[in-house]
Amino acid sequence: TVFTQLDTKLIKALDALSFKKPTDIQQEAIPFVLEGMDLMASAETGSGKTAAFLLPILDRLLAKKAPNSGTRVLILAPTRELARQIHKQALELTQFTGIQSGLITGGQSFREQRAAMRKNPEIIIGTPGRILDHSQQGATDFADLEYLVLDEADKMLDMGFSDDVIAISNYCSKKRQSLLFSATLQGAGIKHITNTLLKNPRSITL
Ligand code: AMP
Repeated sequence: TVFTQLDTKLIKALDALSFKKPTDIQQEAIPFVLEGMDLMASAETGSGKTAAFLLPILDRLLAKKAPNSGTRVLILAPTRELARQIHKQALELTQFTGIQSGLITGGQSFREQRAAMRKNPEIIIGTPGRILDHSQQGATDFADLEYLVLDEADKMLDMGFSDDVIAISNYCSKKRQSLLFSATLQGAGIKHITNTLLKNPRSITL
């Protein structure tokens, strides 16, 4: 399966979590992400979409040394609850790797979040409004970002985050790989965001 080619530290985590075989979205998405392609995928909650982007990203992070102390991966989610769930899955999958991830959402102290970001976690998971606030205050470093992930993009647009997401992307390296997950890939809003943020994306519809 696509799991067997992953770093042994990740395979160890998959064993610990009893993820025995990939879900459909994982089987389809992991090879594209490993190849370095931008990706747009329609996937529902419960499909295993979180591990579908985290696993290949973590594999590539382990394969390359960080160029500097900036953020390597930024994952944006529409709600605090979804961001928290992604962070939990990231903690589970990184448990044998030494890779750090930080959760940066609204409703928490700016000062504590700035302190957390000064520890230079490779991965930041957050909600668009708060991430943009920190960026505008100069508290983020996405200049060498390697991966930008937009999870539940349709919901982010419904919640009015389109301009925030595009504004955040302007702080991000243009050399990054971008991945977008959404319940639906139809609609003018999604087309605008994929045209603006993704380069020659592969598309997966399950
Ligand atoms: P998600 O769709 O990412 O919210 O994942 C739904 C649930 O499936 C989460 O509780 C994951 O921990 C779990 N999960 C993800 N991938 C697998 C897998 N390959 N095998 C078993 N469980 C999985």
